[in-house]
Amino acid sequence: MTSVLERPHGRHPGGAPRRRLVVVGNGMAGARAVEEILARGGADQFTITMFGDEPYGNYNRIMLSHVLSGEESDADIFLNALSWYNENSITLHAGVRVDRIDKATKHVFSNDGRVTPYDTLIIATGSRSHMPPMDGLYTPGGSVKHGIFGFRTIDDTRKMVQHAQQDHHRRAVVIGGGLLGLEAAYGLKSHGIAVEVVHSGGHLMNAQMGPDGGAVLRRSVEALGIGVHTSSRTTAVLGTDSVIGVSLRDREDIACDMVVVAAGIRPNVDLAVLSGLPVERAIVVDDRLMVQDEDDIFAVGECVQHRGEVYGLVAPLWEQAVVLANHVTGADTSSAYLGSRTATKLKVAGVDVASMGLHGPELDTDEHIVFSEPSRGIFKSIVVRDNKMVGATLLGDSRKVAYLTQAYDRGLPLPEERIALLFDVGGPGEEAGVAELDDGAQVCNCNGVSKGALVAAVKGGCATVSGAMDATRAGKGCGSCKLLVKQVVEWAADGAVEEDPAASYYVPGIPLDKPALMAAIRKQGLRSVSQVFAALAPGSAEDAKSKMGLASLLKMMLADRYIDERDARFINDRVHANIQRDGTFSVVPQMKGGVTSVQQLRRIADVAEKHKVPLIKLTGGQRIDLLGIPKEDLPQVWADLDMPSGYAYGKSFRTVKTCVGKDFCRYGTGDSTKLGIEIESRFQGIESPAKLKLAVSGCPRNCAESLVKDVGVVAVEGGRWELYVGGAAGAHIRKGDLLATVDDPEEVKLLTGRFMQYYREQANWLERTYAFVPRVGIEHLRAVIVEDSEGIAAALDAAMQASVDSYVDPWSERHDPLTPGQFRTALPLTVLPQVPVR
Ligand SMILES: Cc1cc2nc3c(=O)[nH]c(=O)nc-3n(C[C@H](O)[C@H](O)[C@H](O)COP(=O)(O)OP(=O)(O)OC[C@H]3O[C@@H](n4cnc5c(N)ncnc54)[C@H](O)[C@@H]3O)c2cc1C
Ligand code: SF4
Repeated sequence: MTSVLERPHGRHPGGAPRRRLVVVGNGMAGARAVEEILARGGADQFTITMFGDEPYGNYNRIMLSHVLSGEESDADIFLNALSWYNENSITLHAGVRVDRIDKATKHVFSNDGRVTPYDTLIIATGSRSHMPPMDGLYTPGGSVKHGIFGFRTIDDTRKMVQHAQQDHHRRAVVIGGGLLGLEAAYGLKSHGIAVEVVHSGGHLMNAQMGPDGGAVLRRSVEALGIGVHTSSRTTAVLGTDSVIGVSLRDREDIACDMVVVAAGIRPNVDLAVLSGLPVERAIVVDDRLMVQDEDDIFAVGECVQHRGEVYGLVAPLWEQAVVLANHVTGADTSSAYLGSRTATKLKVAGVDVASMGLHGPELDTDEHIVFSEPSRGIFKSIVVRDNKMVGATLLGDSRKVAYLTQAYDRGLPLPEERIALLFDVGGPGEEAGVAELDDGAQVCNCNGVSKGALVAAVKGGCATVSGAMDATRAGKGCGSCKLLVKQVVEWAADGAVEEDPAASYYVPGIPLDKPALMAAIRKQGLRSVSQVFAALAPGSAEDAKSKMGLASLLKMMLADRYIDERDARFINDRVHANIQRDGTFSVVPQMKGGVTSVQQLRRIADVAEKHKVPLIKLTGGQRIDLLGIPKEDLPQVWADLDMPSGYAYGKSFRTVKTCVGKDFCRYGTGDSTKLGIEIESRFQGIESPAKLKLAVSGCPRNCAESLVKDVGVVAVEGGRWELYVGGAAGAHIRKGDLLATVDDPEEVKLLTGRFMQYYREQANWLERTYAFVPRVGIEHLRAVIVEDSEGIAAALDAAMQASVDSYVDPWSERHDPLTPGQFRTALPLTVLPQVPVR
């Protein structure tokens, strides 16, 4: 290989030559150190060259969990795009590894044959996944066996996603039940893979919490459908060329087709060892982050050992980067890093976790305050010594975390009523809590943003919450601090926070509100989700989070002119059944108005018997649910049933619940069953921004619970009908508002359709009617829908009629799958029946 002698040079505006700063490692610490150096005028002092052996700009490693779960695309997680390096005159050698440092001549040697001189060197080589000793990890050729993954880089994550998306890969074992292992398990689960976590510790996340917290976390993780084996060790990976399972010590083997090793990390110190730098567990640095006995070499991040400690989270490296930059630029040569108290605030597998200091009492005199509510996944434990907080674990509810972190960091005296540490019990409210926070208090751990930085962004003109988030990157990591970020911004703006324009976007990927989006779609004649992205998204970029909302909107607007693209659909909508937590599906045949016949019952019974359905259940919407059907059996189940879909899935019109009404009930004044069936026949399958549940009751006794439905109809005296809208009886409870009282069932159907169409056209994506109706106001709705104040009633009726006319039973696809994998098993089947047979 030819060697190239690199001579970065340059002069700062004053004329003196700039010194050469070389950074090895382009990860979170290396890039952050350079940002801090630039912020201290480093661009005038140095020509900067960076080496990173990953072929990318700098990205937020924390967000890989979100990329794995599909919540973010890998394009969205870059902290510094390649343009940032250009703009700051930084020479980046991406995809190039530094192999050796010659301290005597002050050069680094990289694997592309380049020899680069430095005056100051920063080592920020981070860590790599640790592969614990076990049989079968490697092929005879020495490479890691096909189907085994670490979880550290974008490339690892992409490969895992690719592997998980192949239909024949259905089961994964994750080795390690710490933060990374749980994130990996959660991410894989969202690809429909059955996941088992094998953890050698006695409880999950044992580095961050005690056994009681671990037990609550285990319950939350298991509730996601992830299997957990604690106090268990993997001894071998089975399979010759690729993975077929793992062997455990003292337990039965687990069959699987992929293994993710998340059993800890090891600092990348080979370069330092080879170059004769002091290395113990990691590269030894002093309080200036200077490598011991090396005046020109600094190190930062996970590759560093400071006062005996090696850190594996980002918060310490933000603090290190500040001190390092103060010394490298000479901005503050008295600056010292004294170590970090690691208060961890994370979202692990969708569960809020905060942990600091001790997990439990150590001395007889320690007070231990514990609150545990396992059924809701909530656990809070605080350890108090001499009236100071020395440890806390919060799971599932981290509202008090800002206050507790302060109390822990600064040793604040504690309230006498200890319960105030766990809950807001009429003490100072959240506002006061925010005001009391120190300027240096870290609000966003993932991106190292302090309260002071957020306040400065607001004072510097960021008038919206998202603007302040963009400017500082606060809240752009795991997301667990978003509430606190919002509170700090609101407090700093003193009530003058402006509304965020993005908050009004119909879907996040297209900067238009719903009316503007619909107008643009009409004007440009767009008919599919990909056409909308191409025409209206910035840079024509497709955004996964926007697809479902767009698909629903287009279908509503275009009826049978809509071009369906299956990748825009959620799994339920792809197979027209409701995915359950064990990966099987539940099939609900239509039963209009809750009425059935002997033939239907017999057919359902036969199908249940033939397919060994593990659970048959009556739903709250008066239908029969066949639970536990594997994906590949769905077409046959539908064929055997030969009944239309009951729409128990999807964002669409679902069902009309009815009472028995006047024919049978001695109180009934209206034929609720007949009207319910007619409504359901008319609007079956209609797409909407969120699900729609309806009911018709034969008298004001309301046996069908009409007052708490999206649209509820009640027969009243004189053969009249009341129509209620915006009711709910789920997680949110609301009595519907009276829209109109009408004389006959035809008018009920007309106004129901008109209201639904108006809601379809005006509501935000996923906005249920219980939020929509109060937002626009019942008086407005009455004016538009009943009195036609805007003259749009005829258009609303016509649009609804077009959707009704374009109805096709989705189950007819069983004859002709739209994609090859539509009904192939891609899903894990844990041992059935998963739903307990009662
Ligand atoms: C999936 C995942 C989720 C995480 N979640 C969290 C979280 O929620 N909260 C939290 O606080 N932390 C989290 N972390 C940890 C966090 O990402 C790390 O603490 C942080 O990235 C460490 O930064 P670093 O710069 O020291 O190392 P890295 O970010 O790993 O950067 C080091 C870089 O140096 C490169 N390199 C190594 N050797 C060489 C060489 N010889 N030449 C050139 N380049 C080299 C490496 O390839 C790498 O790109 C998570 C980590 C992962 C993997
Ligand atoms: S709502 Fe009225 S009509 Fe219907 S079942 Fe109840 S009491 Fe009878």
